[in-house]
Amino acid sequence: MTGMNKINEQSLWWDNTLPLSIPDTSLPQNTNVVIVGAGFSGLSAAMELRRCGVEVTLIEKEWPGNGACSRNLGLVMDRIDGTTTGELDGLVHGVKKYELIKEGRRAHDYVIELIKRENISCGLRQRGKLILATTKSVYETIATSLERIKEKSGVVDAYMVPKQELYKEIGGQANKFYCGAKVEPNAYDLNPGQLTGELVQRLIDSGTTICSSTQLESMQRHANGSFTISTNQGNITAEHVVLATQGYSGAETGFLQKKIFPLLAHVVATEPIPEELMSELLPTLRGVVDTKQMFYNFRPCDKESRLILASHYCRTDDNSTQSNRILNAYRKLFPELAKVKAEYCWHGNLALPGDHLPHIGIRDGVHFCATPSFSMALYLGSKIAKRILKADDASTLLDNMPAKDFPFYSGNPSLHYPALRMLFHGLDYLKIAAPR
Ligand SMILES: Cc1cc2nc3c(=O)[nH]c(=O)nc-3n(C[C@H](O)[C@H](O)[C@H](O)COP(=O)(O)OP(=O)(O)OC[C@H]3O[C@@H](n4cnc5c(N)ncnc54)[C@H](O)[C@@H]3O)c2cc1C
Repeated sequence: MTGMNKINEQSLWWDNTLPLSIPDTSLPQNTNVVIVGAGFSGLSAAMELRRCGVEVTLIEKEWPGNGACSRNLGLVMDRIDGTTTGELDGLVHGVKKYELIKEGRRAHDYVIELIKRENISCGLRQRGKLILATTKSVYETIATSLERIKEKSGVVDAYMVPKQELYKEIGGQANKFYCGAKVEPNAYDLNPGQLTGELVQRLIDSGTTICSSTQLESMQRHANGSFTISTNQGNITAEHVVLATQGYSGAETGFLQKKIFPLLAHVVATEPIPEELMSELLPTLRGVVDTKQMFYNFRPCDKESRLILASHYCRTDDNSTQSNRILNAYRKLFPELAKVKAEYCWHGNLALPGDHLPHIGIRDGVHFCATPSFSMALYLGSKIAKRILKADDASTLLDNMPAKDFPFYSGNPSLHYPALRMLFHGLDYLKIAAPR
């Protein structure tokens, strides 16, 4: 575990998986639906439409799967931000919190069903998730919220672990830094690169037109409601357009760009560590997140005995600098990592709407969605397809929740990164936790 350290700057999840070899396809002149962006939301919309025999053209400025879908931590979320505290009957944009909790669960279940229905091999494991409370009061808030859910629904799929029992879940210095935790024993994690690759392969097999290196440049809507989409590879006309560009939405996506802040996140994968060390640090091998604003988020890898670590967001330093910064931060929690090297460090853009809530909508005839979690991206992609198909189950609770512009964001994220970092660190200094 010593010696020269050369960082691999590609996502670990791409190894032996991505990018896939895609048949060379020139942009058709017309199609029924153009989907812009081949991440989970775009792939999911395309799959649903193809299943119903609709002609789809999927355009992707890089290669399918190159975005956040294959760069994330692979923790399958069932939580919608802002729903885990306060009264369950309280309203978020007119929707009861408790109903939003159930909608988050539907997105989660959609992913598990999709994986099972399509018989996708992607390292899906039900090892659970650990949410570490950074303060005593946030521990109590989470515990109260669990009680409320239990009163309302009769069941609750989680339990609290007090500080003195944290050692059963996490080693290192966790007792020093955290005041207890919530365990979601049935939460899943997966290998997001494999899931992406398998979805792209299903689309190739179904004969979907996929155009890589094809970038949306502008769109024009005609009087009859159809669109002409201009790309760097030529023009295409379509009856429907879906913007599935998420945290990579540029000026060409018009109204959407200002609604989604691209939160820059770096991830480190360590070299494989001895299994005894892994089970000392993470005895239950669960995915972990804490309640800091500048949060820790980590998990064991699905295949080899590596740790996958994220933190120190909104930094534009190179991957090597970031990898040192992240590893050093985790060494405070786990001094046992002193001699463990980082082997991979990559970055991606998490799609952050202004209110942190997922959104779906149609603006000027253009379908879009925006969401910081991949389960919701897959779910909302399928809902957009169902809207186009006018299916009976097209509606979602999120339909009537307007997506506002991200405050003060006009398309240049790096201007905001220093201020956001200061804000996050300030809130952490004041111990104002983000209840998760
Ligand atoms: C480091 C990190 C860790 C994360 N961890 C988790 C996690 O554990 N659990 C979780 O639920 N979520 C997690 N997320 C969030 C989640 O991955 C994303 O919110 C989600 O994947 C985004 O949706 P998507 O997959 O549809 O979009 P993406 O995969 O981001 O795809 C968008 C695509 O649009 C393309 N595009 C953009 N503009 C154009 C254009 N003009 N023309 C053509 N194509 C274009 C881009 O190239 C890109 O491929 C994480 C994100 C990051 C970055």
